[in-house]
Amino acid sequence: MSDRHILTAVAWPYANGPRHIGHVSGFGVPSDVFSRYHRMAGDRVLMVSGTDEHGTPITVAADAEGVSPREIADRNNRVIVDDLQSLGLSYDLFTRTTTANHAAISQEIFLGLLKNGYVFPKTTLGAISPSTGRTLPDRYIEGTCPICGYDGARGDQCDNCGNQLDPVDLINPRSRINGETPRFVEEEHYFLDLPAFTRSLGDWLDSRRGWRPNVLNFAKNLLTDLKPRSYTRDIDWGVAVPLDGWRDRPDKRIYVWFDAVVGYLSASIEWARRSGDDDAWRQWWQTPDSDAYYFMGKDNIVFHAEIWPAQLLGYDGEGDKGGTPGSLGRLNLPTEVVSSEFLTMEGRKFSSSRQVVIYVRDFLARYDADALRYFIAAAGPESQDTDFTWAEFLRRNNDELVAGWGNLVNRTVSMAAKNVGAVPTPGELTDADRALLSATQGAFGPIGELLARNRQKAAATEAMRVVGEANKYLSDQAPWKLKEDPARRDTVLHTALQAVSDCNALLTPFLPHSAQKVHELLGGTGTWSPVPRIEEVTDLDDGSPYPVITGDYGDAQAVWASRPLPSGTPLAPPTPVFKKLDESIVADELRRLEGDE
Ligand SMILES: [Zn+2]
Repeated sequence: MSDRHILTAVAWPYANGPRHIGHVSGFGVPSDVFSRYHRMAGDRVLMVSGTDEHGTPITVAADAEGVSPREIADRNNRVIVDDLQSLGLSYDLFTRTTTANHAAISQEIFLGLLKNGYVFPKTTLGAISPSTGRTLPDRYIEGTCPICGYDGARGDQCDNCGNQLDPVDLINPRSRINGETPRFVEEEHYFLDLPAFTRSLGDWLDSRRGWRPNVLNFAKNLLTDLKPRSYTRDIDWGVAVPLDGWRDRPDKRIYVWFDAVVGYLSASIEWARRSGDDDAWRQWWQTPDSDAYYFMGKDNIVFHAEIWPAQLLGYDGEGDKGGTPGSLGRLNLPTEVVSSEFLTMEGRKFSSSRQVVIYVRDFLARYDADALRYFIAAAGPESQDTDFTWAEFLRRNNDELVAGWGNLVNRTVSMAAKNVGAVPTPGELTDADRALLSATQGAFGPIGELLARNRQKAAATEAMRVVGEANKYLSDQAPWKLKEDPARRDTVLHTALQAVSDCNALLTPFLPHSAQKVHELLGGTGTWSPVPRIEEVTDLDDGSPYPVITGDYGDAQAVWASRPLPSGTPLAPPTPVFKKLDESIVADELRRLEGDE
């Protein structure tokens, strides 16, 4: 194992409902392919995330159902945990933002920023209900959006244009409880002094190498107009503000976005505490040889390329006002913000309300996880908006996975099993044999480089090109015609099996479930590519139960290198690795999408 530490920080899915395949194509599959590759290459990966459970949409859903926000969060946390585990996403820890640990770390970051002067109190206008005299939380105020003119905008955000708002910005504000016009009175809130980071954020962005150009340009553009942003909000669901006179107030909380991004750190600390070494997280956050890659869809760039780095710079004392690191010590900034573009669905934007959607769970009820993972990696929205069509999904599955890769595995293993019953012993190699082996062995370098740079589309394409070479070799050498020359036949089959073994390693980051199957078809035993598991745990501080995703990834056999396949390993007749899909699924799925069922 190398000493290189890699933090894979995966965007936190919001716990207001199940996730659809557009979501997991942005943050989920790309972060897992990246982590699996680095683990195979011997790097020490820590992959963390969890459900983001605070904020107004959760409280609105709770109000609508007449239940507590915690009940909504509990229910959706479990659904999301199940879905992400089923996709094989290999989190070291997938937790949630409602843990006591997360609240404590969020408060520590707030206090560190306050100590260095980057969070400051400011008198602002807050809404109260004239009839009760009490604070009216942001979600109970509705009005016309000043940006897009949508009439149902809420006090904290407009669901039509997605902009974050303050209640005082709304045109014709009214209470959603009784329709009265709120009264705005002066009150105190805390603000993050973003302009104090214009220079340090600029220096950090200028020193970045290898980012996707659209992400870097977007992030640099944000710096042209930084304004202080409110760190606390009028809401009764969230992390308490850790100050005297504020701590016990039910109506003031830390703004959900400012606590959600702290989750990368708090989840790393929770992972360390659960591992039995409370300080283990420091190797990923505080050593110079560690790197941190953040994965998300492009709607979250602002929070990962501006807000979170500003919080870290302020905590470290590295903005314009100087300062010293807080009690956790200096924390590393992101190495790269790896943002995907959007996935659309048959030419339309995903929309749960308009039924233009397919949830992960429904997808996995009908198709294999690896088929979806492969589509996302090979044809997903890596650097431009991309359309998911069922016809293309069917084509990728049937032509590339079944007829390409699956067929190579099946033909090779079944001929060896039938003729020899084991991995044959090769004789002298011909030029053609050596050419194929040098192609498969030579692919680890370039494909590994592409995966390290998150060029996953190119990496998947290149791996499949190597599979194509192996298929061509098999057709050219035609071992089924070599009945009279068993020595040559065995050499061809051994060469082809070695190529299958190499290709299987190259495809393991994309296809962990089928890679395990292929490992076993080649006579391997034990864990080749580990799958994550769900574990029921209790909160380390307050004892409440919740499920986490975790796993033992360190003792897997998969390595990023060609490994010689030992002659004589017994082989049994193979079963198909991938399922061929019937063309009728396209019409069936389109009918479901139209809601005709
Ligand atoms: Zn709007």
